Amino acid sequence: MSSSSVRPVVFGLRLATWYATLFVLAAIAILYLTYYVTAASLAQRDHQILQSKLGEYATAYQRGGLAALTETVRAEQLTAPERLFVRVIDRGSEVLVVSMPEGWNPDLLETASLQLPNGAVVQVGKSTEARRDLLSRFRTVLALVTLVIVGIGLAGGWLVTQAALEPIRRLTSAVRRIVRTGRTDQRVQVQEPRDAIYELTTLFNAMLDRIEGLVSGMRGALDNVSHDLRTPLTRLRGSAELALRGPADAERYREALADCIEESDRVLVMLNTLMDISEAESGAMPLVRETLPLGNVLERAVDLYRDVAEAKGVALTVQADPDAIVSGDRVRLEQVAANLIDNAVKYTPRGGRIAGSVRRTGDRVELVVEDTGAGIAADELPRIWQRLFRGDRSRAERGLGLGLSLVRAIVEAHGGTVAVASEPGRGSTFTISLPTP
Ligand code: ADP
Repeated sequence: MSSSSVRPVVFGLRLATWYATLFVLAAIAILYLTYYVTAASLAQRDHQILQSKLGEYATAYQRGGLAALTETVRAEQLTAPERLFVRVIDRGSEVLVVSMPEGWNPDLLETASLQLPNGAVVQVGKSTEARRDLLSRFRTVLALVTLVIVGIGLAGGWLVTQAALEPIRRLTSAVRRIVRTGRTDQRVQVQEPRDAIYELTTLFNAMLDRIEGLVSGMRGALDNVSHDLRTPLTRLRGSAELALRGPADAERYREALADCIEESDRVLVMLNTLMDISEAESGAMPLVRETLPLGNVLERAVDLYRDVAEAKGVALTVQADPDAIVSGDRVRLEQVAANLIDNAVKYTPRGGRIAGSVRRTGDRVELVVEDTGAGIAADELPRIWQRLFRGDRSRAERGLGLGLSLVRAIVEAHGGTVAVASEPGRGSTFTISLPTP
């Protein structure tokens, strides 16, 4: 319990950390890029100022020689708002003009120089102090902004992650509730938008529907099977009890034991068939699907009953369309065909005819078993598909009343339908319709 409740938090933290890290790194990258672009453009501006100054001084020198240059420098020192350091050195390294604004630190100067035509060199310089001050304030602000960004990143990451994890948390608590209570009727609320969580929740609910269907199907099957087996087991016990009550006679005991064996065989067959029906009805029957011609399935079932039909004097014919292909479990579909042929042979008196056929009609494949037998009374017709139902006039024949229930359950598990048309005294027609693959 503790590990399962801790894990989402750890996951959330990890997600939040990732988010915050990426967010903070991206923001810091942008801030520092801005810083370096600003620093570079300030340096470039200073450089341009110095170059243009050098240009002006060169022009002054051309105009009136060193005197004009000195005059220009002096005049500028008095009027120019942006004061510069200026030095003119002649060829002999003698300083001719120098102008150094007061209070400037010579180490914090950015300089540029130009050689005049007479060989003297003009040097101009600009203090970088103001620039440094500005950038240092910029750095302080950057550090503060970075701290704020880290805070926002962490808080935002946490909030975003919590919001993103909320549907997962709802799903987890629903699953936990179901695991704890064992109740599969609970559902997780599906919420827009239609994203991956929406799909997962919908699928989870669909899975619960399916599990609930299976569980209630199996529960119903268990109830039915235990109810249906009660009668034959009581009968079995009755035979044994009766034999024991009378005088001890080996022959009587032998007969009673033989009855018991016969009855328990019936119970076993019944149990297996009931389980098959329940499995198929609840959707739990494992179907080994393959693409196969339904005609083959019918032919194999007919082959099984050919001798019985011949012995009974009933004509058995089969007609199969080779294009009638279905996707189904061969063994189960053979069981369907065999049950229908078995009934037709059982309930068709001597001289009758049975015609089995398989045909394709549009996007369906039909298997039809038609007989000229006893037929089914109108009031019995809707009940023949029920478990353990046996027609009034069929009691003389062997049977458990489970054949048609199994037929319907298997066919419906294949996505097909069953139908019957019958006229008492004239015969019956059973039609199985299956979808084409
Ligand atoms: P069973 O044959 O063991 O009695 P089924 O479930 O196969 O059980 O059939 C249920 C009932 O439907 C039968 O008891 C019988 O009354 C009726 N029935 C089924 N098939 C036919 C048929 N081909 N002709 C007449 N009646 C039939």
